[in-house]
Amino acid sequence: MRLILLAAPGAGKGTQAEMLSEHYGIPSISTGAILRKNISEGTELGKIAAEYINDGKLIPDDLMIKVMDERFKQDDCKNGFILDGFPRTIAQAEALSASDIVIDKVLSLEVDDETIVERLGGRLECKSCGATYHTEHRTPKIEGKCDKCGGELGVRSDDKPETVRERLKTYHAQTEPLIEYYREKGLLCVAKGRSEIADTSKAVLEALEA
Ligand code: ADP
Ligand code: ZN
Repeated sequence: MRLILLAAPGAGKGTQAEMLSEHYGIPSISTGAILRKNISEGTELGKIAAEYINDGKLIPDDLMIKVMDERFKQDDCKNGFILDGFPRTIAQAEALSASDIVIDKVLSLEVDDETIVERLGGRLECKSCGATYHTEHRTPKIEGKCDKCGGELGVRSDDKPETVRERLKTYHAQTEPLIEYYREKGLLCVAKGRSEIADTSKAVLEALEA
């Protein structure tokens, strides 16, 4: 299974990607996690990415396409994968469709903007493994510590309100057109995000298995 997840920032795409990764036994590839790892390690890519991410903008297509070309070559991709964050523009989708990778399905997870702004307000992220939590909706077992790896939890620098609004604008302008793009290719499934994670997971699996 080669699956693309499309959703606005904060829609719960990462959480669903993790669920699907376990369900299908294939890796979930988060472009945001790749970029943030590069930022924390201070790589060349990280230095460039930091400027765009902190402004709520997308990093340039050619750079992102190069990063993903490398990622797809890794061994764990051979039985399929879930793409969380790629493609995010028509140009990236065109590059993917010109490659030898065949996408089976594209899932669009729909959540309204109001819900997103509220959710991102309380989001916490593990600084070591990137797992996400929420101060109200998804609290860790031990405050401030990651359930999975024990790492320290913190607020992502691009989750501040001004940047969140900019990220939503970027999403509507650059990523939302991919919904029609993949609908025309006959690959699109749609699920509505719910307030409970378990309900969203159920809707996602139903949409994919329909
Ligand atoms: P979210 O979906 O919540 O915005 P991500 O972790 O997926 O968070 O992405 C964080 C940031 O990384 C994005 O706002 C963008 O700046 C950058 N980014 C991630 N994926 C891409 C991509 N495919 N193309 C360009 N920029 C990207
Ligand atoms: Zn962790």
